[in-house]
Amino acid sequence: MNSEQVLEHFRQSHALLDGHFILSSGLHSGTYLQCALALQFPADAVKFGEEIARRFMDEGIETVASPAIGGLIIGYVVAQALNVRFIWTERQAGQMMLRRGFSIRQGERLLVVEDVITTGGSTRECIATVEAAGGEVMAAASIIDRSNGTADVGVPRHSLASLDVMSYSPENCPLCQRGGEAVKPGSRTS
Ligand SMILES: [Zn+2]
Repeated sequence: MNSEQVLEHFRQSHALLDGHFILSSGLHSGTYLQCALALQFPADAVKFGEEIARRFMDEGIETVASPAIGGLIIGYVVAQALNVRFIWTERQAGQMMLRRGFSIRQGERLLVVEDVITTGGSTRECIATVEAAGGEVMAAASIIDRSNGTADVGVPRHSLASLDVMSYSPENCPLCQRGGEAVKPGSRTS
């Protein structure tokens, strides 16, 4: 599966839309990305998981860890493909934590997996959390990198596809300046 095939699947499942959108942040963008839509069918998620796992077969990964909620499905299928354990970190009162009785052995070799890396913030928080618990993070992976390759998470990073998503304040939006009207994603009927 190459990068273009990954993005084509995202387009077909409406996880990736081209147009003129109002993002939840209030910013405007010509691209809308909602990874969950691309993972609705488990067979599709498994394919992405196997593709990510192929890169890490020989890295001695013992455990996959993901930041909830975005990383849960893809992290789980990567762990399945590597035949290793899967755990996740989640926020409690804004603080990323390991909960639910998950524990990590001193020096355990982890791979951190997320669906989309934008700034790398959730991945970095997940890495810091599992390292504080004793783990050693070997690498990080995501299906999509929309940081244009710039997100630095402090460990080697791999993505199946890269996407340069520009967003603009409404006052500076070139799509508005061309006279177009921005819509909330999901409001379109076709
Ligand atoms: Zn606009």
